[in-house]
Amino acid sequence: MRDNNDIKRNDRSSGKKKILIVGGVAAGTSAASKARRIDPNADIKIIQEEPVVSYGACGIPYVIEGVIDDFSELIVRSAEEFEKIYNIDIIENTRAVRIDVDNKQVYAETLSKTDRNNNHNNDNSSYKSNSNALMRFDYDSLVIATGARSVIPNIKGIIVNKELSNTSTYRSSTMVKGLLLLRNYGDGIYMRDWIKKEDSKSCVIVGAGLIGIEMVQAFRKRGMDVTIIEMADHILPSLLDKEMAEMVKQELEKNGINVILGEGLQEVVTSSSSPHSSLSTSSSPGVRYLERIRTSKNKEIATDLLLLGTGVRPNSEIARAAGIEVGVSNAIKVDEHMRTNIRDIFAAGDCATARNYIINEDVYLPLGTTANKQGRIAGENAAGGNAEFKGIAGSAITKTFDLYVGKTGLDKQEASVYGFDPIEKEIKSITRASYYPDKKSISIKLVADKESQKVLGAQIVGGEGVKGRIDLVAFALLMRATINDLVNYDACYVPPASPVWEPMNIASSQIAKLLV
Ligand SMILES: Cc1cc2nc3c(=O)[nH]c(=O)nc-3n(C[C@H](O)[C@H](O)[C@H](O)COP(=O)(O)OP(=O)(O)OC[C@H]3O[C@@H](n4cnc5c(N)ncnc54)[C@H](O)[C@@H]3O)c2cc1C
Repeated sequence: MRDNNDIKRNDRSSGKKKILIVGGVAAGTSAASKARRIDPNADIKIIQEEPVVSYGACGIPYVIEGVIDDFSELIVRSAEEFEKIYNIDIIENTRAVRIDVDNKQVYAETLSKTDRNNNHNNDNSSYKSNSNALMRFDYDSLVIATGARSVIPNIKGIIVNKELSNTSTYRSSTMVKGLLLLRNYGDGIYMRDWIKKEDSKSCVIVGAGLIGIEMVQAFRKRGMDVTIIEMADHILPSLLDKEMAEMVKQELEKNGINVILGEGLQEVVTSSSSPHSSLSTSSSPGVRYLERIRTSKNKEIATDLLLLGTGVRPNSEIARAAGIEVGVSNAIKVDEHMRTNIRDIFAAGDCATARNYIINEDVYLPLGTTANKQGRIAGENAAGGNAEFKGIAGSAITKTFDLYVGKTGLDKQEASVYGFDPIEKEIKSITRASYYPDKKSISIKLVADKESQKVLGAQIVGGEGVKGRIDLVAFALLMRATINDLVNYDACYVPPASPVWEPMNIASSQIAKLLV
């Protein structure tokens, strides 16, 4: 912490309610917009570390793939628009470093010009603040929406600078060149530029989670040779069970992806010069280039790129340092009003916990949908409201090549762990009338509780129509519906959109037979 003389004061002078938000992507900007609607006079500020706000990180894989032309298309609203339309002041390139809960103040530092140009996890520049000066922001209500950052496993060859590993946009001057992370806007730009500059032809992706699976398609469609390595024995281990995941594996293999299951990344083998030295600038001392990787079963794979899709962790450090309680996975613990344990401080999005409404427990499931909803609740309450977040069912969906893959609620194994007496049934059906062209197959696995007959969850893999059916089950879960409710709901029908017997009605009828 710097000397007090260096602190520039941003003081209370307007008499208006001061709502300060840290973090300006999904949760932060949702909070700000909602707060503005609730209190038209409030002084609303967002402190944002990145040089952009309000962008759709979920769209990054599609820019890399080439479906979307440029990253700028992912920006929903610029800082200037926020100022002009909503009178919300956004302070970009600025990082909050300390929260003083007693005096209701946040201290922040401006990032250097170098960092503004290189604000991404893969940055090889050093991280420093612009000057010795800290800014001080007063607040009446504070919303922490600092999101999450990529997990970097402690693996030989990655050479992580530990000192920097606690920063929210992780960066290291010692990270091997050719190793990529994908978390924020700058990461996407860095990835696209690196692939172009180095003319990358091959890629190994570590981790077959949601990001890994989406990037498989992006790299493949750019013509690269792609290998995906997953430590678990199946693809998308936090979304699907092994049986359902097998369909996804087959889809990947059909599209030429080398899928390696049950093996982790053991070592990153590096060299002092780029494998594409004619294309790269000459290497500086200490810089290491990716050459190949070694798996835990000693398989060696030469590769131009290595993408770590090994999960994220919440940016909760400044909250913890201020005495704000954290919960599961070190995410900031919030109640249904997005309140933390400290009065007038709220948290939302990937830095916070969420209540799972099936098991009635806090979970950490960082997703854009939740971040937007929680942000809106936090913003309303920061402005004086009393809104309540109803929680999540763990609904998630992805698409890889021609398959949509979704889940909501619990699978059978999870249901057993949480004390239910689960029963499951999988059915295979089609998405259009049997005589209608281009019908796709769809597999639905439903889980229900034997005793209460309540629906507990669903996994669906199919060529189309997955999202609507997952959403239907998520709604059934919210309404505590029984399997009989899913048998009897009045599904609509037209040949290009479904068979006359709706697959969800079929799946629930099948499981109902097992419940009698
Ligand atoms: C490639 C990719 C694809 C995805 N696809 C999907 C999808 O299809 N569906 C889905 O639901 N979700 C998806 N997600 C997840 C979704 O993008 C996130 O859940 C969402 O962005 C979280 O929003 P957030 O505002 O909580 O956090 P973030 O988006 O992480 O934003 C937090 C912001 O706060 C800034 N910040 C952190 N600390 C500070 C500080 N101390 N001071 C100032 N600023 C700070 C960060 O730099 C960042 O800009 C995807 C994510 C990625 C990376």
